[in-house]
Amino acid sequence: MNQTALAENSTSNADALDFDAIVIGGGISGMYQLYRLRELGLKVRVLETGTGVGGTWYWNRYPGARFDSESYSYGYSFSKELLDEWDWSESFSGQPEIERYCNLVADKFDLRKDIQFSARVTAAHYDEGACCWAVTLADGTTYRARFIVSAIGLLSTPTMPKFDGIEDFKGPWTHTGLWPKEGIDYAGKRVAVVGTGASGVQAIQEISKTAKHLTVFQRRPNWCTPLHNRPIPKDEMEDIRSRYPEIFQRCLETAACFIHTVDLRGTFEVTEEERNAFWESLYAGQGFGIWQGNFRDMLIDREANRLMSDFVADKIRERVTDPKTADMLIPKDHGFGTRRVPQETKYYEVYNRDNVKLVSMLEEPVERITETGIRTSAQDYEFDVIIYATGFDAVTGAFDKIDIQGKGGARLKEKWSGGPRTFVGVMVDDFPNMFMIMGPHAALGNNPRSIEYNVDWISRLIGHASDNGVRQAEAPAKAVAEWHSFVSEKAEGLLSNEIDSWMTGINLNVEGKQTRTIVRYSGTAPEYREKCEAVAASGYEDLNMD
Ligand code: NAP
Repeated sequence: MNQTALAENSTSNADALDFDAIVIGGGISGMYQLYRLRELGLKVRVLETGTGVGGTWYWNRYPGARFDSESYSYGYSFSKELLDEWDWSESFSGQPEIERYCNLVADKFDLRKDIQFSARVTAAHYDEGACCWAVTLADGTTYRARFIVSAIGLLSTPTMPKFDGIEDFKGPWTHTGLWPKEGIDYAGKRVAVVGTGASGVQAIQEISKTAKHLTVFQRRPNWCTPLHNRPIPKDEMEDIRSRYPEIFQRCLETAACFIHTVDLRGTFEVTEEERNAFWESLYAGQGFGIWQGNFRDMLIDREANRLMSDFVADKIRERVTDPKTADMLIPKDHGFGTRRVPQETKYYEVYNRDNVKLVSMLEEPVERITETGIRTSAQDYEFDVIIYATGFDAVTGAFDKIDIQGKGGARLKEKWSGGPRTFVGVMVDDFPNMFMIMGPHAALGNNPRSIEYNVDWISRLIGHASDNGVRQAEAPAKAVAEWHSFVSEKAEGLLSNEIDSWMTGINLNVEGKQTRTIVRYSGTAPEYREKCEAVAASGYEDLNMD
């Protein structure tokens, strides 16, 4: 609709623009952003490092990778045609099915023609005179565009432990988030998995089934709860399809956009019998119900949280035959739900198998990787394959990898060195015409729901800028400071913010990420959207629109 306005602005620049907008990343966020910006009539290019679409679901092809939110709540909601056409085969679908879904979306909406694959963005510099961005790729190509939108993911920069000798190992080794497309043959082999977060747990369950022997290297255990995955029969899928409007409406109303919603009762407002019966039903239920649908005080009241942790600890003891192993699997440094809860399918039973051994890296630190395996303080272990499930430089890591320079050469990495600061998680002062999908301090949770909202909001803003001949849209420092105060206020009182995890900005493998910072917005999604809507309704009066 507003190609004319933008084109006129472009031709008045010293250098013409290559695109109206560049989107960095071709995952769930980038694909939808492309769809929406094209709808505005803009000339858009998506730059994607991989050779295919899907982002998270393209890179994380490790054995056992699957959704741990209900599939039918985790796809796109914007197209009825797509909802009518696509059937989810399981409550929590696996990576191959999710990647097929992403490919279907790309084909159905003819997205590929505007996506450049194998295109890794290394720099993005703002040109103040021309009010546009120069985006440079690893191969040296530079494109100029009025707007850039980062769709680079929260958890997309894999991090390796700082073990000596990683490269010395002679057998195949990889990180779960970089699993090779051709796969790794681990059946009948001696395998090591390092790390027991959500990725490690999924991989361990699967690999243990066919490996000759699996050794799990665990530093700190996590509280894992049953996923209870199952196939979705055809008639149930039809029923789900008929209820999509109500399912997505429910997601809009809950705190973190999941279909599960907090129980308004307090832990101590019910009898012990009622409490235990409720927790039993949550433990028997699917997905994040036990985390997101628990008593309202479970994540803020220490005693409530301790009782819940004791309940899950008892479950672990019931399920793991060897008491010492069970004890090793029970977290001692954080309460239930204060870190991201890995969802499991017979994970604890894996440790009852003869071909599986659990090694505590707290008792037996890794000294180095050798040509043939892993040397700990206690012994040399020999392996054929080593898998690192050691997580990601989360939230800001993908930004740090790109040399992003705004007005006056301001560097985003330096600006965020003490922790990120944004306006509604989408904009940053001194970085005009740059928008972030799922940026720091935007509402997270059920990510596709949050992504769709961010993309729609950004698209409306870009549409408004084009309509009104705005060449430069920027969040002023005052608006950023106000959002930061709001985010800080919302973080108060949450037990999770007292714990080291990627959600509090900690990654011990990354320089400068050893102290806790507020990287996450902890308020509710409806409250977040209300704030964002107010900005749009005021005609963006909080922003500088030049
Ligand atoms: P993670 O939760 O950060 O877990 C990394 C694991 O590696 C932890 O057990 C950590 O131990 C260990 N580790 C890291 N560096 C180490 C070192 N130097 N020495 C020893 N151990 C080390 O990463 P993740 O499992 O990849 O999960 C990250 C996030 O991705 C999840 O929280 C979730 O949001 C998302 N995810 C989602 C799904 C899904 O939806 N289906 C699946 C997988 C992941 P410590 O705990 O001691 O640091």
